[in-house]
Amino acid sequence: MAEIGEQIRNKQVIFKDYISGFPKESDLYVKNDNTTILKLPKASNGVLVKNLYLSVDPYMRLLMQKFNTGDVFTPYQLSSPIKGYGVSRILESAHPNFKVGELVWGSTTWEEYSVISNPENLVKIEHTDVPLSFYTGILGMAGLTAYGGFFEVCSPKKGDYVFVSSAFGAVGQLVGQFAKHMGCYVVGSAGSQEKVNLLKTKFGFDEAFNYKEEPDLDAALKRFFPKGIDIYFENVGGKMLDAVLLNMKFEGRIAVCGMLSQYNNLENLEGVKNLMHLVFKAIRMQGFQVYKYFHLYPKMLDFLLPLIREDKIRYAQDIVESLENGPAALVGLFNGRNLGKQVIQVAHE
Ligand code: NAP
Repeated sequence: MAEIGEQIRNKQVIFKDYISGFPKESDLYVKNDNTTILKLPKASNGVLVKNLYLSVDPYMRLLMQKFNTGDVFTPYQLSSPIKGYGVSRILESAHPNFKVGELVWGSTTWEEYSVISNPENLVKIEHTDVPLSFYTGILGMAGLTAYGGFFEVCSPKKGDYVFVSSAFGAVGQLVGQFAKHMGCYVVGSAGSQEKVNLLKTKFGFDEAFNYKEEPDLDAALKRFFPKGIDIYFENVGGKMLDAVLLNMKFEGRIAVCGMLSQYNNLENLEGVKNLMHLVFKAIRMQGFQVYKYFHLYPKMLDFLLPLIREDKIRYAQDIVESLENGPAALVGLFNGRNLGKQVIQVAHE
């Protein structure tokens, strides 16, 4: 156990250069010989943390390129360690809200130890009878995205016909289960037979299909939704969105959470042809950002913790050990290598 004031190794994942197209592992590198004095800087109001788990998220690809996202994202800085969400333990605190030993989740850096200068947005972890890694996913940013996106944006009702793309992902698996919990009929799409089977057997989706094996997505959706779709939870964009628009019901709702199929194609985004159906069917299509729903976090915990404890909501995680595997884990999101929420375990609790 490292002591405050000690000089220690602080492995980091460093961003090399801005990219276009698919990310590669070599766009990042692991700096093994970085050292740091384990101490908060003088006059800091922040906290010094040990990072335990890091969340690997698709939006991180967007930060690897200079691209106009309005004010939402700030691109990564060259030759600096990359940032992301994580679960950390406080080692030293100069902030009145945080004490040594407490566990938190929120924005941190891909390294073993971090100084977080503005800890106001960190969320304290109070319930540790569930896996700590859950605070990178179901009880963290992905959970809040699914919760806010589904319950606030989709206006779900019992009996609705719900379609979720990237349904085995960190967010999608939750949206599908929330919809089942409400008494909806739920179909998910995913990129392998293994994921398709697990959607039905582990998460209780009514149906699922492998979008990579469907040459005609419109025909596939008609097969699963002969009467149409009430709610589409959009994670991927592109051709899937075009096909969904043809299959929405009157006054259907589309929550646009992300458009993952476009993140490696930012200079040449795919067009969507069927937008006229928004008019024909009076569809409400709404983008959203998770930041808008942080005030719902306590309500989400009250909803989710009992369901997790009773095994009524399940969560698939794909946890890799050590920062060395970080670059591969991030790249893997874009070829579907992750089987559930992608997490890096940086240190043991
Ligand atoms: P995720 O689904 O766990 O991870 C990525 C998965 O996307 C991969 O496993 C892969 O699964 C699928 N994928 C990769 N490339 C694809 C492509 N070209 N077409 C279709 N599927 C593809 O990621 P997540 O964390 O749950 O995020 C899901 C979406 O939510 C993303 O678009 C993300 O940006 C968005 N998001 C938005 C917010 C917000 O505030 N609005 C917050 C968090 C996340 P397959 O094997 O199924 O291909």
